[in-house]
Amino acid sequence: SLPETEKTGNRVTVFVRVRPISKKEKEAGSRCCVRIVNPRDVYLTEFVNPNDYLRLKRIRGRHFTFDACFPDSATQQEVYSTSTSELVEGVLQGRNGTVFCYGATGAGKTYTMLGTVESPGVMVLAIKDLFRKIKTRSCDGNHAVHLSYLEVYNETVRDLISPGRSLVLREDKQVMTLLQQGNHNRTTEPTCANETSSRSHAVLQVVVEYQVRDAAMNIINSVGKLSLVDLAGSERALATDQRTLRSLEGANINRSLLALSCCINALVDGKKHIPYRNSKLTQLLKDSLGGTCSTVMIASISPSNLSSGETQNTLHWADRAKEI
Ligand code: ADP
Ligand code: MG
Repeated sequence: SLPETEKTGNRVTVFVRVRPISKKEKEAGSRCCVRIVNPRDVYLTEFVNPNDYLRLKRIRGRHFTFDACFPDSATQQEVYSTSTSELVEGVLQGRNGTVFCYGATGAGKTYTMLGTVESPGVMVLAIKDLFRKIKTRSCDGNHAVHLSYLEVYNETVRDLISPGRSLVLREDKQVMTLLQQGNHNRTTEPTCANETSSRSHAVLQVVVEYQVRDAAMNIINSVGKLSLVDLAGSERALATDQRTLRSLEGANINRSLLALSCCINALVDGKKHIPYRNSKLTQLLKDSLGGTCSTVMIASISPSNLSSGETQNTLHWADRAKEI
């Protein structure tokens, strides 16, 4: 059995990112209810009644502390460097690592994970970083990067870029295009809460194989796996939509999110039985959670008071993840 320090060393690192207020939110007259007090603390204000100044004095609020809080001015590179680059380093040393982005629809999950051509997100920056490092470290120039981009939608797994096989990447040039195309294939359904709402989880898995020499100049095969997950919107489907189909889908999304937190809980508690089989998402991540794997959670939130309920839910969830 593992020594005690290794057992408890399986910590989840938790980050929060606030996106800029949108044009739509501005036009709706929303105000900012999220304040990053210092690099680790975020303060959420709950306006009781913004038009009644007597009640304004009774504003309630809450502080949350995380490993880091990214303000709306944070760049994609800053978010990648602080949250994920260490984990990428671990993957190059043969350890598995997983990054989850959690939050309500519209909170900025896909922007953080995929990003845009001008501002690529964590997925693209991680792959570029992997290639850059492999090329300088691989002792024989031989390396392979296998990539799969899968969707979990309504407890069904679907390949988003290369059905039936994993893709072998030789270089990082086409990655953004490839992932954008994949993202375009994701299932989106209109709901009552939002015009379009992503009810699917997108899972990018990158397996890196290369050869390094140890101190005695022996050749060692290094294999590591990186999983980057853009989770489905965390808003509760049942509260916003009555229809049976949507409710079923919502239940499945919540089931995957619930199964995910159950697994992480069980792992950090050192439990023998980890309930991976409870959802498709956790089955996919079976070898990427626990053991010597590192886990990073990025919670995305909107700064607008119009979303303060969702923001509060997200921060509570992230807060729980932090404590495990
Ligand atoms: P989600 O995937 O959580 O539903 P998106 O990532 O699609 O949300 O973000 C919603 C909108 O906000 C998009 O138009 C996106 O480009 C924009 N956005 C999100 N985060 C940022 C950010 N940090 N900076 C600039 N725009 C952002
Ligand atoms: Mg999205």
